[in-house]
Amino acid sequence: MTTGAPRPHTLVAGVGNIFLGDDGFGVEVARRLAGQPLPEGVEVADVGIRGVHLAYQLLDGYDTLVVLDATARGGEPGTLYLIDAAEPADGRAPDGLALDGHRMSPDAVLALLGTLCAGTGAVPPRRTWLVGCEPGTVEEGVGLSPRVAAAVPEAVRMVTDLVRDEAVVRPRTAAATAPDGVHRTSYASPPSRRAGPTAGPAPPLMSARTTPGQDGAAMHEMSVALSVVDHVEQAVRPDGAHGVRRVHVEIGELAGVVPDALAFCFELACSGTVLEGAELVTRFLPGRASCAPCGRTWDTGMPPDMTCAACRGGATELLSGRELRITEVHWSAEPAAPDPGPAPHPEESR
Ligand SMILES: [Zn+2]
Repeated sequence: MTTGAPRPHTLVAGVGNIFLGDDGFGVEVARRLAGQPLPEGVEVADVGIRGVHLAYQLLDGYDTLVVLDATARGGEPGTLYLIDAAEPADGRAPDGLALDGHRMSPDAVLALLGTLCAGTGAVPPRRTWLVGCEPGTVEEGVGLSPRVAAAVPEAVRMVTDLVRDEAVVRPRTAAATAPDGVHRTSYASPPSRRAGPTAGPAPPLMSARTTPGQDGAAMHEMSVALSVVDHVEQAVRPDGAHGVRRVHVEIGELAGVVPDALAFCFELACSGTVLEGAELVTRFLPGRASCAPCGRTWDTGMPPDMTCAACRGGATELLSGRELRITEVHWSAEPAAPDPGPAPHPEESR
């Protein structure tokens, strides 16, 4: 986890599921921000539904976290909110920003981060902001509704101002050496404006929603890891098998799973089970889409491009990319020990 460049101090994280209409707000704003100049030390990440990855990335030690997310607070669709994650203004914890089955809420990410920090000695961010947008629709479908799309440029300006303020205010101190996993302490108060109402009832961030038959798309890395361990533990063991040497898993590009985050979670999930020390081998399957009107097929990339370049048709079908399955389990006669060899691992980027 080391880089040659100076360490970024601010992480701007676009969160949300681009397959659920306006839930793609955060990802879209992150995408726009990534294409424009920002103060030094400000990093933009398209987190999507990979909340565990966000927590994992935060272990790199940021002073400030800015989460971009669809945030249902009862305003008009397209209303922007700037929310201090620690602010008690409306008398409730940020837990009100509930998670759905697809992903972790910002608060759940911070809670997980606290746990990870306690285990590793890392330091969580000192300030956390949420730049939210009231969604119009979170029905299945790719693309923002007009009013939310229209709010994106203003959200980009908001974040740009915010990170500029933070960059000025922020001297990087080593003082943030809190002893335990303090994931909800010492947030600053907001420097500037609030673009929308904060009072009133807090509806859930997203309606809970699952995609039948595509369980993989709905799980984040830790639950994926636990589920893999579960499946293997419950599998019928060959005679004489006492441990697991290796588990092979196929992961679609759009399944919302980051291989290195999964590997990290897998190791934790295996601890104390028959899989203790087992190696996880992941195979990455690219996202593929096809256009119903013209028949063209293409690699979607991630975040996925779901618009046909030939006819701009709106009837795009996803052919592959949301897979998540165990393909092989290699048992061993002895309780498994860590494999000495280097694991072939796609996306080993750190
Ligand atoms: Zn087409």
